[in-house]
Amino acid sequence: MIRLRRRGVKPPADWQETVDAAFPDAAAFRRKARAFEKLAELGAKREKGFARYAPEVLPTDEKGKPEFPPVWRIDARVRQAIARMSHGFCAYCQSPISSTHPGKGGEDKPPGQVEHFRPKARFPAQVYAWDNYFLVCMACNGAKHDRWPAGGYVRPDEGQPGSRFVFAENGEIEAREGDEQARCTVEDFGLTRFWLTQHRRTAIQSHLDFVKKLIGYPDIRLQDILITRPVAFSEAINQNVRRAWAHGRRKGKKSSRARPRRVR
Ligand SMILES: [Zn+2]
Repeated sequence: MIRLRRRGVKPPADWQETVDAAFPDAAAFRRKARAFEKLAELGAKREKGFARYAPEVLPTDEKGKPEFPPVWRIDARVRQAIARMSHGFCAYCQSPISSTHPGKGGEDKPPGQVEHFRPKARFPAQVYAWDNYFLVCMACNGAKHDRWPAGGYVRPDEGQPGSRFVFAENGEIEAREGDEQARCTVEDFGLTRFWLTQHRRTAIQSHLDFVKKLIGYPDIRLQDILITRPVAFSEAINQNVRRAWAHGRRKGKKSSRARPRRVR
């Protein structure tokens, strides 16, 4: 997970209007949504979800089931904005979205899914709030679904989210000790799933193979070997580069051997 910047990710001027048009009575929906969010966050009523609490304010799908009109999915502007924010990568696992969920419309219709950070069923007043949206892959979105632990999850657009996880050289991920939000994020988004771990490992190791040859050369600085562009798994790679760098420096100090000389 890398830090995402929300600068520029703002709803267009007609967003409210577009959302309202999808409801039979948008004002009634908003009233009920606000009342629902006043209920205890972890109480039974909240857990059962908004569709059970106030089905009358939601339109129904083709099977007659009340549902939130999926404006975030239909209106491509949402995905355009959040795909730009995360450079087309999943906001949680940093996988390239195109390889897991091919898009059909090129630049105008980016692939991937719109994840509601605070789930729709429990936070209906935030279903159409843009700061509640992240671009994610199908695997992360499917794993998390409507879950919401007591303390919530790590937000990719706040603080230094990457530093709250530890990425091992073999691709494994763990939450920093005592960080409950990070622990729930790893668990509920399925960040330890097998193929994700394999891809992360390959990305880390192929970069390390290269940089380990450079560490120790007098002209090489740490910033020269860190990844600065948004590529898949860059956070996991950079953590391992920093570790290899620190290790190389310790070894360099201890060893009486001459530092490798640059070949000219
Ligand atoms: Zn993902």
